[in-house]
Amino acid sequence: MQNPPSDQIPSATAPDAREFAAGGELGLLRDIVRLLPSGLTVLDEEGRFLLINDAAASQLGMATGDSVSKHLDARRAKGIELLRAGRPLVAEMTATGGNGEQVLLTSHRPVRIAGRSLLLSNSTDISEQKAVEDHLFRSAYFDELTGLPMRRVIEHRVQSLIQRYEPGYAFAVAFLDIDNFKHINDYYGHSVGDALLTEVAKRVGLNLRETDMLSRMSGDEFLLLLNPIDSEEEVAEYIEATLQRLKAPFFIDGSEIFASTSIGVSLFPDHGRSYDALLQNADIAMYRVKNDGKGAAVFFDTSMEREALLRMKVEQSLRHAILEKRFCCAFQAKVDIRTKEVKGVEALVRLRDDEGVIQAPGTFINLAAELGLIDELTHLVLAEIVRSIDLINDTFGPEATISINVAAKQADNPAFMRSFAEALQATGFPRRFMIEVTEDAFVTKRRFQDEVVPIFRKMGIAISIDDFGIGYSSLSALADITADEIKIDRSFITDIHLRPRSQGILRAIESLAEALGMSVIAEGVETFEELAYLQGATRIRYAQGFYFARPVFLEELNIVAPVASESRVNEASRPVQENRQAYSSRPNRRYRR
Ligand code: C2E
Ligand code: MG
Ligand code: MG
Repeated sequence: MQNPPSDQIPSATAPDAREFAAGGELGLLRDIVRLLPSGLTVLDEEGRFLLINDAAASQLGMATGDSVSKHLDARRAKGIELLRAGRPLVAEMTATGGNGEQVLLTSHRPVRIAGRSLLLSNSTDISEQKAVEDHLFRSAYFDELTGLPMRRVIEHRVQSLIQRYEPGYAFAVAFLDIDNFKHINDYYGHSVGDALLTEVAKRVGLNLRETDMLSRMSGDEFLLLLNPIDSEEEVAEYIEATLQRLKAPFFIDGSEIFASTSIGVSLFPDHGRSYDALLQNADIAMYRVKNDGKGAAVFFDTSMEREALLRMKVEQSLRHAILEKRFCCAFQAKVDIRTKEVKGVEALVRLRDDEGVIQAPGTFINLAAELGLIDELTHLVLAEIVRSIDLINDTFGPEATISINVAAKQADNPAFMRSFAEALQATGFPRRFMIEVTEDAFVTKRRFQDEVVPIFRKMGIAISIDDFGIGYSSLSALADITADEIKIDRSFITDIHLRPRSQGILRAIESLAEALGMSVIAEGVETFEELAYLQGATRIRYAQGFYFARPVFLEELNIVAPVASESRVNEASRPVQENRQAYSSRPNRRYRR
């Protein structure tokens, strides 16, 4: 917009206005100016206000008829300065006036009228617009749930601290992650999960200094900046106190919730000189805590870096293996311990790594789940079973059920489970299959139990609860689960004949399963004594374990000479080294030992 010539009154250029002024209606004009909704003041060079309309008086906090107010004084001082400099200014100010606190946008313009230097100042109330802007600002930078600054805020803060670095100066960043938050969310519901996040944020933020900052990074992850710090010990003490506070129960919605948190800490400048390096190293340290049993805090050290690099290597090789379909299955028999007949067979996935070494699932299954590769892997396992069905039938009998393991994370994903059910249907023999899921899948009962189980039921596919006894569910939770089989975890079976407590648990599981019409299978039977106990003291019908047969590669069974590829089995998979001897007496499918 162009400034009008300084010696003209703009409105006087309109023809009607000219008539109006000529008509001597000056009084009317004055009243209009007085009642204008925006605040108008006119100041002369001596600091006298020639005009203050009603809106301006109210904005500047002047009571009626009053000419004193601190805002007015401030405007006078500023006005004189602007008049002297002959320069216009648009400025924002907050004023407490007749309408409470207002944000005013004021435009000051020096003009010359009738040879006099005057300053015209026009203020508009932009409070509402500011409130909207503030809200937008807050939602861009602050987390709505916890009110904490978001990641970009803490990132900016850390970066500016690094830029101002002076020798001797140090700060710490701590990465916090609530343990098993997903379980809590699933079990208690999202509103309780949200309330827990808010409470955790409060507890962590309790004793922070002005210069510290707590930020919510995403989901259940928080980043804490402790700035400045004197020593590692001081940080360790502070973090330990925080951990303890977080261990105390949370009371939410009438529930007492226990939640622990894992914390990884990195220090500037020792552990990194950029935000990314510090964050990554705190994350690496946190990862270590998660692996070591959670609920603790660990400081980063360089040995972890090597570990992380190694993990990255495994990650890369896993991605390659999936791409190149370098997976195969070992099959382990499930045996009727009374008749020694094979009742079924479990497919156990194996990975052939970059060097051709066979790896057991313990080295890659969790990672595959973490990286979102597990669904593809499960489909590969199924494809392998379909490809090997003739061999399976030859080895274990055409009636043997075929068990496939599904990770709890997959079981909780109805979309995947539906696609998997379709794939099972497409094999043409869906009724042969049994799905093994761990108890965790049943804890998040709602989706798996309500949406997934019925699909499999309808198709005649059985469900087995794998590793029963070590997960989250209690015996009473069994009553709500509709499964066909319970696999008692190996930890109960090992030396069962010597362990009265485990015997008691076994009896309880057994009678409950009987009442609920589920069959029971004991996992990991390795010795004759264990088997003898199961046969003599329980009514358990089925077992699986090295005593009967190790997992085997079916192709290799067809090779008559003893397979000389043992050296290809990596040390890491030694406990599951495949044993072919148990099958040397084929086609008899009984296990006599
Ligand atoms: P799981 O389903 O409980 O399988 C039984 C594991 O115990 C197998 O280990 C098996 O080799 C081992 N085992 C069997 N009998 C004995 C015994 O008498 N003594 C001892 N010490 N071990 C025995 P593996 O093959 O290493 O598999 C480990 C776990 O990996 C499985 O536990 C299962 O949870 C998971 N897994 C295997 N294949 C798959 C798969 O295709 N998909 C998914 N999601 N998980 C799989
Ligand atoms: Mg299993
Ligand atoms: Mg198991």
